[in-house]
Amino acid sequence: MEELKQRIMKDGQVLSDSILKVDSFLNHQIDPLLMHKIGQEFAYRFKDEIITKILTVESSGIAVALMTGLELNVPVIFAKKKKATTMGKETYTGKVYSFTRKESVNITVAKKYLSSEDKILIIDDFLATGEAAQGMLQIVEQSGAEIVGVGIVIEKAFQKGGNLLKQKGIKLETLVQINNLSQGQVEM
Ligand code: 5GP
Repeated sequence: MEELKQRIMKDGQVLSDSILKVDSFLNHQIDPLLMHKIGQEFAYRFKDEIITKILTVESSGIAVALMTGLELNVPVIFAKKKKATTMGKETYTGKVYSFTRKESVNITVAKKYLSSEDKILIIDDFLATGEAAQGMLQIVEQSGAEIVGVGIVIEKAFQKGGNLLKQKGIKLETLVQINNLSQGQVEM
């Protein structure tokens, strides 16, 4: 997706050999027009699949997932990182080690929003080690729903997440692949 590549080149900040900061359009301030185009692109890439719901994890996946849900006309669920008392006891839970925060969190979805009849598209902002995606897969597996695929805005292809998903036979669509972040440069 050319526009996204150009935006990363213009506004992305390389914080280290493994972390790219895109706070000005995706992770803190959000560009709605770009998010809309990303949603349209995911909808196009998964147009031949039957999808009943989109699953993401709070917080940075929500904007992209919402725009994709708008295009596909399906509900969007975001797994919560802090279980609210209002969620009740009937929940599915996945475990995620956060690459950026260096801590493990449980992510939770209320059982009433996922069932064995659902066909799920997982959407997230970044794919790095694959922890977040695997936490969401655990949730989908517990519900008995079917995984249709995973859509990622920015994949850091030098980390293991992409291979992990492909080894599981999951259809993976990434809009931009980053091959290297060394010496302060983004190599796509
Ligand atoms: P993973 O679980 O695949 O290691 O990482 C996925 C999650 O970590 C994403 O949802 C994203 O929030 C965060 N993340 C991983 N790498 C980066 C990065 O280079 N930059 C930013 N901004 N977030 C990242």
